[in-house]
Amino acid sequence: MIFPCDWCSHVSNRQDNLEAHIKLHTLMRPKSGGKPRVNFYPGAVLQYQEIIRHNESRRRRKVKFGNRPASCA
Ligand SMILES: [Zn+2]
Repeated sequence: MIFPCDWCSHVSNRQDNLEAHIKLHTLMRPKSGGKPRVNFYPGAVLQYQEIIRHNESRRRRKVKFGNRPASCA
């Protein structure tokens, strides 16, 4: 199974590697300074947010929503 990047020709062989790679496209410039290894894409930011949201919902699947506060402001 391969996971191609939507934004460049990069191909990962694991989902989490692709997620780490897409994160690079969400950074305006690398922390260390210098030339970015990959280009920044606003669309990649949205895609990465979707990935995070998906991962969180996957992580919380076992949590029940019975503890939600009853306040309705
Ligand atoms: Zn890429």
